[in-house]
Amino acid sequence: MSHVFHRNSNNLPPIGMKGDGVYLYDTDGKAYFDGSGGAAVSCLGHGDQDIINAIKRQLDSMAFAHTGFLGSQPAEDLADLLVKHAPESLEHVYFVSGGSEAVEAALKLARQYFVEIGQSQRSKIIARRQSYHGNTLGALAVGGNEWRRAQFAPLLIDVSHIGPCYEYRNRRAEETSFEYGQRVANELEEEILRLGPDQVMAFIAEPVVGATMGAVPSVEGYFKRIREICDTYGVLLILDEVMCGMGRTGTLFAAEQEEISPDICTIAKGLGAGYQPIGATLCSGEIFNTIKNGSGFFQHGHTYIGHPTACSAGLAVVQKLTQGGVVEHVTAKGQQLLDLLQQEFGRHPNVGDIRGRGLFVGMEFVADRGRKAVIDPCHKFNSRLKAAAFDAGLICYPMGGTIDGRHGDHVLLAPPFISETHHLEEVVSKLATAVRKVT
Ligand code: PLP
Repeated sequence: MSHVFHRNSNNLPPIGMKGDGVYLYDTDGKAYFDGSGGAAVSCLGHGDQDIINAIKRQLDSMAFAHTGFLGSQPAEDLADLLVKHAPESLEHVYFVSGGSEAVEAALKLARQYFVEIGQSQRSKIIARRQSYHGNTLGALAVGGNEWRRAQFAPLLIDVSHIGPCYEYRNRRAEETSFEYGQRVANELEEEILRLGPDQVMAFIAEPVVGATMGAVPSVEGYFKRIREICDTYGVLLILDEVMCGMGRTGTLFAAEQEEISPDICTIAKGLGAGYQPIGATLCSGEIFNTIKNGSGFFQHGHTYIGHPTACSAGLAVVQKLTQGGVVEHVTAKGQQLLDLLQQEFGRHPNVGDIRGRGLFVGMEFVADRGRKAVIDPCHKFNSRLKAAAFDAGLICYPMGGTIDGRHGDHVLLAPPFISETHHLEEVVSKLATAVRKVT
């Protein structure tokens, strides 16, 4: 019996032995195409020698130093590189070990900023339904995934949740996409006014919704209106790019495609590309300088913030992502993946929507395409699909979300950026085998 406390204690995974390019191998030598990067992590595939060598060099010189005593060159260089390529407002980088930690830091940074400018009454956070921001208590509280929140609800701070931007399900027939986006963005203004504008601290959202909806981008104009509303009421805009950032959608930061700059932005997953656990919270010069010139001390921290070895991995990854050609490849291959999925599943009676941006693509399953009826949750569709895909040698990310209080099923694909056409054909063909088994 395994003494590892696996999340799913009755269905233990095989032991992984080796990673090479787009494939992972178990101890029996079975190959799995890593079609979701785990959970959108392994953006550069497995066994990348440049990243591995960068880590080895750092281990040889200084594996770890606590940032309370010593900084490190990889952290300095990585922060410089991220700021150089980030949306213009983002000027400083606070390193953490993963996505949930990045979100916690973002929330505390927002709160401390208002305390330091003498607006300590601002403590309310607005987020969106059908969102995911992590599993620690603060991040879980802002998240809008009801299934994940339910049993921990008594431990969670009170957060307002407005509707997501989810055109496939919620746009009215008489609306254009743009009008729909403005209508749902305006829910933020209504909620700010309801709570009292001087009480609200921040609004948090994923630019492209990952884990709870399966790669749902917003419609044109939505985030511009959100930015405008935040500016009107002095509310900080936090964009959570933990899943959709680091080139995944075809630009280093997903916010670039919305043509807006957030006040705070969280990244993780693709930042370390699976080679090291690392995340980061980027913030504006205004927030940083307020704290620098105020208390001078961000009252938050973990032992491993700015871990030198993790930063050396992040640096090697971001160097690759920004060296030219990579994000363009992501855009081109992303379109190809959407086209291949359309060819294979475009007429499938149980596939309601195929969407995404870059190599961040989702497919939503329905019982009935016309009415968009959700699949009966008793069928445990997403876990059966995950198992069938795994059998077929494909790691993908099927999930059950919540749609208007009901269950919804989708699959997320986030193949490595090194994927070529034949790789994408393999992903779609293996997914088709799995879907045939479960529908
Ligand atoms: N934020 C978003 C948008 C995510 O998708 C996730 C994880 O899926 C997180 C935060 C939490 O990241 P982690 O699992 O690294 O703590």
